[in-house]
Amino acid sequence: MAVSDHVNLDQFMAGLKRRNPGETEFHQAVYEVASNVFDYIEDKEIYHEMQILRRIAEPDRIVIFRVCWEDDNGNIRVNRGYRVQNNNAIGPYKGGIRFHPSVNLSILKFLAFEQTFKNSLTDLPMGGGKGGADFNPKGKSDNEIMRFCQSFMTELYRHIGADIDVPAGDIGVGAREIGYLFGQYKRLTNRFTGVLTGKGMEFGGSPIRKEATGYGTVYMMDDMLTRRGHSIEGKTCLISGAGNVAIYAAEKLIELGGKVVTMSDSSGYIYDKHGIDADKLAYLTDLKVNRRGQLSEYAEKTHAKHFSSQRPWNVPCDLAIPCATQNEVSRADAQTLIRNGCIAVSEGANMPVEQDGIKDFVKARVLFAPSKAANAGGVAISGLEMSQNSVRVTWSIDELQARLRNIMRDIHDRCVEFGSEPGNDYIDYVKGANVAGFIKVANAMVAYGVV
Ligand code: NDP
Repeated sequence: MAVSDHVNLDQFMAGLKRRNPGETEFHQAVYEVASNVFDYIEDKEIYHEMQILRRIAEPDRIVIFRVCWEDDNGNIRVNRGYRVQNNNAIGPYKGGIRFHPSVNLSILKFLAFEQTFKNSLTDLPMGGGKGGADFNPKGKSDNEIMRFCQSFMTELYRHIGADIDVPAGDIGVGAREIGYLFGQYKRLTNRFTGVLTGKGMEFGGSPIRKEATGYGTVYMMDDMLTRRGHSIEGKTCLISGAGNVAIYAAEKLIELGGKVVTMSDSSGYIYDKHGIDADKLAYLTDLKVNRRGQLSEYAEKTHAKHFSSQRPWNVPCDLAIPCATQNEVSRADAQTLIRNGCIAVSEGANMPVEQDGIKDFVKARVLFAPSKAANAGGVAISGLEMSQNSVRVTWSIDELQARLRNIMRDIHDRCVEFGSEPGNDYIDYVKGANVAGFIKVANAMVAYGVV
């Protein structure tokens, strides 16, 4: 395990923790990648000589700024904004913006680090970044959201650009926020460029961007099951979250014949033993996206049960797709899923399963697709939105659907290539994704020399 930069994995992690004290999510994300990559690079001297892993785990640049705005009662409010530009070895920084009260530097550094490998896996020319603010959009009026977005962009615009850094949405940042952010960027710079993705169709957005993350997560599930001789048809599935990723994961799962019995939000989860069908999902989408309501209202209108302040993982199922947030599946939840017969997990959210939970899934030979592979469909279509903006065209829905399907299949196959072991038919998709994502970024960094 020793490597020529004279550290082993434990020493590497100790150094990282010393330099980034208290950033537990960042430590967790780096450990997951490093534990696989250390083995892969053991006999590949150039990566040690060039200190590639250490360099990837040190963001290129972090911008932190004050965001002042005025609420509807005339009070001045102050939030903190961030942009973490992790690595641009293979393309402009690319990654979403999150507005949530929990946002801090550790969370954004973990997300930007993960994004670097995820974007590499798509095989499109995109580096890794992430940003956001500790702003809570809940209960704010449209005008308050607009003023916040405008103030946020008034600093951010200096650091981004179509060939520099291209943000998109994430938790708390959807079509409405992207519209306000893009409008302010255009006003400040007098430029109409593809500086953000997830834009409205009227101003340079791409077909199927909003569906892409959820659909892609289900495609990954489908490919894992097919390889094992199973299919989604007739399988009972737990989904968490009720936002952009969860809604379109549910839509695709239902389309492929699966039965979705749970969804969740910050109020708790709903359990619908008859399955959430297309009509109920349309109602839920209107409730969450248009009316910004809570799932308890869904339960009042249907036969579903609402479990306040709980997560859905104790419901028996065949498949699980966590789509809400990081570390929402604890080790105990993972063990419950295994006991209840779950055969496959595809991560729609970023890092939703705790590290020990992943180990338990792998030990129990549960098919497990990590987020950097499973939810890469969203950023892949964002990459294609950038291409369309560059040449000022819009491709057809059919073309983009086909491209998304192919990209997800390629990611699956690359995970199989690097996650297989001779004499063992179980694929370690975590290892496969980490190693496959690492190689392209690492080779580009080697080519640049010490920069
Ligand atoms: P949304 O804001 O659209 O939805 C998030 C959903 O999760 C909401 O239903 C929200 O509840 C719930 N949620 C968020 N935080 C918590 C929490 N701490 N506890 C319980 N429920 C919570 O976000 P997205 O769907 O866009 O993102 C979800 C996940 O997917 C994130 O991890 C994100 O990083 C990841 N992702 C998103 C991509 C995209 O294209 N959007 C791309 C790749 C990854 P409520 O409605 O009550 O707020």
